[in-house]
Amino acid sequence: MRRARRLDLPGRVQSYLTQKQAEVDNGADPGSIWERARRTKTMGIVFDVLVRMAGRRERCMYCEDSRGTDIEHFRPKRVYRDLSFRWSNLLLVCTGCNRKKGDRFPLTPSGDPLLIDPSSEDPWDYLFFDGETGLIVARWLPGSDQPDPKGQVTASDEYFQINIEAVSEGRLRTKRNLERAVNAFLQNVSPEASEDLRQAVADNNDYGLSLWFFNRDGTEEEPFCRLKDQHPNVWLQMVSLTS
Ligand SMILES: [Zn+2]
Repeated sequence: MRRARRLDLPGRVQSYLTQKQAEVDNGADPGSIWERARRTKTMGIVFDVLVRMAGRRERCMYCEDSRGTDIEHFRPKRVYRDLSFRWSNLLLVCTGCNRKKGDRFPLTPSGDPLLIDPSSEDPWDYLFFDGETGLIVARWLPGSDQPDPKGQVTASDEYFQINIEAVSEGRLRTKRNLERAVNAFLQNVSPEASEDLRQAVADNNDYGLSLWFFNRDGTEEEPFCRLKDQHPNVWLQMVSLTS
């Protein structure tokens, strides 16, 4: 996963959402209002903005493997009617993740969400990439022997396709591609090799892993740590390319 920074909607599109939300607030059924609205060109623009937020490859904001095809209500509209047409509550997901999560929204006993909202939080604050297995796991809470509950629930098989085998395999492939590119540069340092590295990192900006290896905990791993120590200028270019 990676952070998907929320973009602004065009004014008239935002007004449309506000108007539809008012209909729901006045007692209309959110499901049927949504179904009708979803077929409009205006909601097509909402979808397009979510696709832009998801990045160049237009992947699902949770598994980052399948194409983002569905508008997802982070808090389900059947439960949180007042958020049915709230822009901050809408995300882009694939059909598989959408089907899996359904209308569920797990909470802690004190009422805090147990799912990561990639449009307002950095998923890597809660998650950790296991480079051996390709799985995403919960980060351990600092100073405790407990996994972060939000990371744990988000990465579980219960809600999204984050850890199905095809996805963990894809992460391992991306990791190998990034390692190979860094090793190739370290073995043959030149301006051309530096450009090849830049290109390879841009081409493998998948699953939020280039952020992991150049900006987060993955920076400690070989060969990334060696690039950081030996070629700080090239390293800084990679950091800014991936952040
Ligand atoms: Zn997905």
